[in-house]
Amino acid sequence: MKKILVANRGEIAMRVMRTCKEMGIKTVAVFSEADRLSPHVRFADEAVCIGPAPSNQSYLCADKIIEVAKKLGVDGIHPGYGFLSENADFSQAVSEAGLTFIGPRPHAIRVMGSKLAAKEAARSYNIPLVPGTESAVSDIEEAKSVAREIGYPILIKASAGGGGKGMRIVERDEDLDEQMGRAVSEALNAFGDGSVFIEKYVSSPRHIEIQVLADAHGNVIHLFERECSVQRRHQKVIEEAPSVILSPEIREAMGKCACDVARSCDYLGAGTCEFIFDEQNNFYFLEMNTRLQVEHPVTELITGVDLVRQQILIAMGQPLSIKQEDLKIIGHAIQLRVYAEDPSNNFLPSIGKLQTYRAPKGVGVRVDDGYEEGMDIPIYYDPMIAKLITYGKDRNEAIARIIRAIDEYEIDGPSTTLSFGTFAFRHEAFVSGNFDTHFVKKHFSPEKLEQGSEDEAKVAAMLIAQLLEKRQKSPKLSTSSNIVQIKSNWKNRAK
Ligand code: ADP
Ligand code: ADP
Ligand code: MG
Repeated sequence: MKKILVANRGEIAMRVMRTCKEMGIKTVAVFSEADRLSPHVRFADEAVCIGPAPSNQSYLCADKIIEVAKKLGVDGIHPGYGFLSENADFSQAVSEAGLTFIGPRPHAIRVMGSKLAAKEAARSYNIPLVPGTESAVSDIEEAKSVAREIGYPILIKASAGGGGKGMRIVERDEDLDEQMGRAVSEALNAFGDGSVFIEKYVSSPRHIEIQVLADAHGNVIHLFERECSVQRRHQKVIEEAPSVILSPEIREAMGKCACDVARSCDYLGAGTCEFIFDEQNNFYFLEMNTRLQVEHPVTELITGVDLVRQQILIAMGQPLSIKQEDLKIIGHAIQLRVYAEDPSNNFLPSIGKLQTYRAPKGVGVRVDDGYEEGMDIPIYYDPMIAKLITYGKDRNEAIARIIRAIDEYEIDGPSTTLSFGTFAFRHEAFVSGNFDTHFVKKHFSPEKLEQGSEDEAKVAAMLIAQLLEKRQKSPKLSTSSNIVQIKSNWKNRAK
């Protein structure tokens, strides 16, 4: 493979192209009119504008993208995540155009793109599944009888759902009717497919997922787990590897299940099997994401494997050079998704201009971003600005590092999830590892952010007072720079 087109934008386009460069592969970027000034456009060897800002007129236009690829003599297309990455027709069209799709074949995407079909495939390998219906339910009486049998609370899920959308919790029989109706119409609107099913709602669950790699020669390996239990709106904000809760035995059992899920759909490339983990240490398969995941860097840091490089080598037809027994977990990695969202206002998007943008640096810090100072965060796409990832020899070191890195991060303009990160990484529940997917609901409220900054403001005021006092006692002591620094940190946190 000599030239790869990346059908994506932002940090993930940058991420993929960096590895291409390391492999001596030329890169082609595509971009919408809103992204003219984006770093991924400049980073690529060639870049082509494919249409106006809305993604259905640009990043989702499979035909236009394939046309550009053919015109520029591209060998392979990497879809990143989101957009066309889990679109089976796109995978097929790319192959039919004589190009290589860097991802799984259409069959695997189709099977795993439907949560119901995915469970069906997993069932044949005896993989544990959350109790619930085996097929779509439309009849309310049938739904009621299933719900009573498995016991409330239950979850109504859209089979075609994704990105945390299309889920409704139902606590009581009386509410089922109404919630079913809403779930079906929501699923139809959002995914063009109104099939919904019922699942037992696992209380106090943790989200643990396994990274897999499968080549075209029948080799399947797993690269351990990532824990992504800190979520808002059923969507991940903080991810880490390894999980504090897995014993080596459970890790191995989950890894084996994930490899079996991959086998069940004849998987090719990098994929992720998501599981829900309950208080009794049972795990249940939820779904498979047939693409590179937003949180893949934490796995790269603890295994030393470049997942994008592996995707490309697999797409080129090479057998996996990594053996399961060669893999070891070394150290600990944590990622915070830095979203342009306001944690004090229900995590609602807070887009705008990045008036100041300075990413942290230093030992153990990786920042995957796709913006620069002065740029606008467009309203058209996912509001993620960056991913802040830290690595440490153990979990405590990774936590201390991410708190330090957040402190160093300077963003003026939109509100971000950085302040939430500071709250979470200092919280006893996170630090002790005793948390579940309800972390935000259970422990977080906007006052806690203000509380934190007030406390720190008090500490800063105290330090300044002490320094001033010292200075008065020994006039030669130069402390003015310290004072400035404390003030500026204080200002950051108050945001
Ligand atoms: P991950 O599972 O990789 O952690 P998310 O679930 O947050 O990531 O989704 C990754 C990206 O894909 C996000 O930009 C999200 O908006 C998008 N996405 C995921 N599933 C869908 C879907 N079914 N429809 C539209 N966008 C989706
Ligand atoms: P999506 O395709 O939107 O990512 P998932 O099935 O992966 O959908 O679920 C997303 C999140 O919703 C999970 O990480 C978990 O927090 C929650 N969730 C899903 N299924 C259940 C369940 N049966 N019980 C409790 N929580 C669940
Ligand atoms: Mg999921």
